[in-house]
Amino acid sequence: MKTRNQEVRLPILEKNGVALSIKREDEIHPIISGNKYRKLKYNLLQAKRLQHKTLLTFGGAFSNHIAATACVGKEEGFNTIGVIRGEELENKWQQNPTLKLAASHGMHLHFVPRERYRDKENEHFIALLEEKFGLFYLLPEGGTNTLAVQGCEEILTDADAHFDVIATAVGTGGTMAGLIKSSRTHQQVLGFSALKGDFLKEDIRKFANKSNWEVVPEDHFGGYAKVNRELVEFINNFKKSTGIPLDPIYTGKLVFGILDRVKKGKITANTRVLAVHTGGLQGIFGMNRVLEKKNLPLIDL
Ligand SMILES: *Cc1c(COP(=O)(O)O)cnc(C)c1O
Repeated sequence: MKTRNQEVRLPILEKNGVALSIKREDEIHPIISGNKYRKLKYNLLQAKRLQHKTLLTFGGAFSNHIAATACVGKEEGFNTIGVIRGEELENKWQQNPTLKLAASHGMHLHFVPRERYRDKENEHFIALLEEKFGLFYLLPEGGTNTLAVQGCEEILTDADAHFDVIATAVGTGGTMAGLIKSSRTHQQVLGFSALKGDFLKEDIRKFANKSNWEVVPEDHFGGYAKVNRELVEFINNFKKSTGIPLDPIYTGKLVFGILDRVKKGKITANTRVLAVHTGGLQGIFGMNRVLEKKNLPLIDL
């Protein structure tokens, strides 16, 4: 599947002589969008090949991966089980738009305490889940594994060869690893992390052994799912001036980070940047509930 590149016109780009296009992977599907479609593609083929009937995966309360797995499971005829971080959600998940959406697509939600959730890669914990639910095809948290990286290698196409910089939001790093693998040697892949911490680089190296990439050190908003007024206003203004919706956890921070680099001269004149819109727009509904509670402006729909 090939998605379109949309050119962005903004005074800040013109002034600095930088060209920015956005690859609209968010347009693949409203829920199974962006990189989550790419990451699931070969895993679903593998699950079918192994004749699995059930997909089991892990995620938090806003997880785009949980929403995508529930939706794709329904479309492709799998049962789905979501192991969700946070026991306290057990009694109030109906108020969480992402979990409600997952459940409405038939996903069975299994809530576990945070301490327990940390064991998600532990064999013993997986064995216990198998005892409880029977055999399943396991998708790791965030959906990243070798087959997911393979799917993400299909985001870039030959038509993207003229870009100098490929920029992406980073969670587990699986998407970035796929982009690195399919990038040209003259291209630089820039990652903008949605999480705090340095652990990512090791993970990316595991999947991609090239060196034309960097996870930028800036952290404008203080970590995963952290938002403030500035970010919300940025997302709303960007949509008004370009027509492109961004999500508050990944792509909003990505585009904010790119424009900040342009402003500071870290991305120089005549650079052609391609930013990958990895989707995640379903997360806006959940975030707006949080913003409402904090008396902050909401993200426009
Ligand atoms: C999951 C997600 C990411 C992070 O992808 P990784 O492969 O885990 O790095 C980025 N953007 C969006 C919108 C996502 O949903």
